[in-house]
Amino acid sequence: MRLRNVQGAREAMIESEYTVNEPVEMKGKWNELFHNCNPIHLEIGTGKGKFLIELATANPDINYIGIEKYSSVLIRALQKQEECKLPNLIFIRMEAEQIEDIFAKDEISKIYLNFSDPWPKDRHAKRRLTSRQFFARYNNILAKEGSVEFKTDNRALFDFSLDEIKEAAWNVDAVTYDLHNSPMSEGNIMTEYEIRFSEMGNPINKLIASR
Ligand code: SAM
Repeated sequence: MRLRNVQGAREAMIESEYTVNEPVEMKGKWNELFHNCNPIHLEIGTGKGKFLIELATANPDINYIGIEKYSSVLIRALQKQEECKLPNLIFIRMEAEQIEDIFAKDEISKIYLNFSDPWPKDRHAKRRLTSRQFFARYNNILAKEGSVEFKTDNRALFDFSLDEIKEAAWNVDAVTYDLHNSPMSEGNIMTEYEIRFSEMGNPINKLIASR
């Protein structure tokens, strides 16, 4: 997914009206940016943005923020948004470990994690976006009734995530090991990776977790 050295990506990001360059200053004030009190949903590791563009188009009464660590990838999402000009969607280039510096307690109503990097080495487990360390961060920004939705074709990462949810004392509200052949597929929006992996014949796992 990482596209190295996309010419001018960082500069284009800084200039775009659909990114926030100093997100720390918006902590606790994100609704002011959207000029409404609608719930805010976050996708972490948004990649090229297909998922959020489609969600934001379908749900104008929800505000969406996509977080992605590489400008060389995020530029593709921004290019789509510059065409669509959705008022309820912005992107931030940042490392997800810093989300508590950016969002206040209860500020986020839902978190999407789609095809997150697996970090297969045990010593890197805490970097996985479904590790107990990340659930502790989500605990600090997610509203009381909020939830985390996670999709992946990686069964080892999925099983790890189910264990970590238990370890973090969260609840698994719904789970499937074959999303596209399950009732949970209703209204499903495919991500770029989801299209690629399901075309290869990989079943897609999905869980929804809450406290
Ligand atoms: N969600 C997209 C999809 O399903 O098509 C992209 C999946 S891709 C495998 C994972 C993306 O998450 C990459 O673009 C990567 O740069 C981003 N990412 C991984 N770890 C991240 C982190 N800690 N903070 C921000 N972005 C991250």
